[in-house]
Amino acid sequence: SLSASKEIYLCVSLLFQDTGVGKSSIVWRFVEDSFDPNINPTIGASFMTKTVQYQNELHKFLIWDTAGQERFRALAPMYYRGSAAAIIVYDITKEETFSTLKNWVRELRQHGPPNIVVAIAGNKCDLIDVREVMERDAKDYADSIHAIFVETSAKNAININELFIEISRRIPSAD
Ligand code: GDP
Repeated sequence: SLSASKEIYLCVSLLFQDTGVGKSSIVWRFVEDSFDPNINPTIGASFMTKTVQYQNELHKFLIWDTAGQERFRALAPMYYRGSAAAIIVYDITKEETFSTLKNWVRELRQHGPPNIVVAIAGNKCDLIDVREVMERDAKDYADSIHAIFVETSAKNAININELFIEISRRIPSAD
C-alpha cells in the first residue's frame, strides 16, 4: 500500500534566448511518453502534471514550461519562485547553450528559493556525432554546484524518467 505522497513544483527552464534545446520535448516525453518532432513551441504546454508511483509513494509533478517565453527574462522569477526544483536544459550539440546555462544557474542561486533542487539535462544525446559539449565537463560543472546531472534524449527516451525520479528523491515529503 502507499505510505506517502508528495507534490513537486518544478519549472523547466529557460535558457534565456535559447529556444530549441528540447525543453518542451523533455516534458512531453515524460508526461505523454511520446516525441513530436514538430512540437509547436508556442503551444508547448505551459503547465502539465504527471503522477508517478515511486517505491511506495505517489509523486505528483506540477511542471511549468516557459513555452517560448524565455526571451522575456523579467518573467523568469514567476516560474521558479514557487518551485521546489528546476531543470536547466542545454543541447549537447551547441556549446553556446552550455555557456548560457551558467548565467541561469547564477540567477537561480541568487533569486530562486534557497533550497531549490537544480538539475542539469544535456539533451539530444542521441546526436553524439555532432556533440560539442563533453559529458565529463558538464558533469564536473554540475558536481561543483551540487546539481543533478544527466544526458537525455527526449527523442529516444533516454534518462527522462530517471531525471524526474532523481529530482523527486532529493525533495523531502511534506508528510
Ligand atoms: P524548446 O524550445 O527548448 O522547448 O525545444 P523543443 O522541445 O521545441 O525542441 C526543439 C527541436 O529539437 C525540435 O525540432 C525537436 O524535435 C528537437 N529535439 C528535442 N529533443 C530532442 C532530442 O532528444 N534529440 C533530437 N535529435 N532532437 C530533439
